[in-house]
Amino acid sequence: MTGPETHKRETGRRYNSYTDWFNKLFGKRVQKVSINAGFTCPNRDGTLGSGGCTYCNNEAFIPAYCTPDISVTEQLKKGIAFHHRRYRRAENFLAYFQAYTNTYAAIERLKSLYDEALSYPGILGIVIGTRPDCISSSMLDYLAELSRDYFVIVEYGIESTNDDILRHINRGHDFASAVRAVTETAEKGIYTGAHLIFGLPGETRAQIIESAATISALPLSSIKIHQLQLVRGTLMAEEYRNYPERFDLYSLEEYLDLVVAFCERLSPALMIERISGEAPPGLLDDPRDWHKRSNEIFGLFERMLESRDTWQGRLYNK
Ligand code: SF4
Repeated sequence: MTGPETHKRETGRRYNSYTDWFNKLFGKRVQKVSINAGFTCPNRDGTLGSGGCTYCNNEAFIPAYCTPDISVTEQLKKGIAFHHRRYRRAENFLAYFQAYTNTYAAIERLKSLYDEALSYPGILGIVIGTRPDCISSSMLDYLAELSRDYFVIVEYGIESTNDDILRHINRGHDFASAVRAVTETAEKGIYTGAHLIFGLPGETRAQIIESAATISALPLSSIKIHQLQLVRGTLMAEEYRNYPERFDLYSLEEYLDLVVAFCERLSPALMIERISGEAPPGLLDDPRDWHKRSNEIFGLFERMLESRDTWQGRLYNK
């Protein structure tokens, strides 16, 4: 991508789109079906801590059809039926192991869950959400083997490149751990994704924008960005009530401006999957009212790129 003209000619867009990547890879529309396989997380079960990351409430981002008391096969059946109702043309799917830490179990259990998903009709691959400190070389060897026949991507919760911020939100790992995990995963030939949160307490707008260079230096395939959402019952929501001065709760306009500035400095090679999250309104304890559907927010992001005549990677320095 060298500029909006070249990029638009190739893809019709001013950013490197995850959807276009999928269309190219699969030659058809592919949807993700979320799965809650009943994992926990070392930051919750006492191994690293018991309180979890201060913003975490998994109910805020897992669809209602996912529940660990039914099998992976049953969840896929329900999830695919849900997608058929929503997107009539959906026929091909990826099983998205989304809830909690989806590599946090004995390798034999993981293999059997992933294999169960991959043997379901219409499932073309798996997406595995996990923490950077919960991946082993033997697990990566297995995933590398799977990725010869299926699409496999490991999505790491990186959240911030700043260790002070990671400590403050009680992540239980540092940024070096993310660098190690992403590098080892990519070296084994497996696609890697990163999840980032913009608006964490203490992290300034300038620091977030600067972090685009650090993220771009990682061998990532794709990124997902979320705005910080204050979710009911979390320590983060309580922190906001007690210390609102620690937070920059961006307005929608400010948030889009921040995402655009970040993307201008981001490597044009990275696919952008999302730029916002959408926790169910009933779970939010957040004074802002703009947490609307993420595709609407993505549309606004595209319009802002257009109106500013800018694009992903415009200010990227390799
Ligand atoms: S690592 Fe994930 S599941 Fe575990 S506490 Fe943090 S956000 Fe929640």
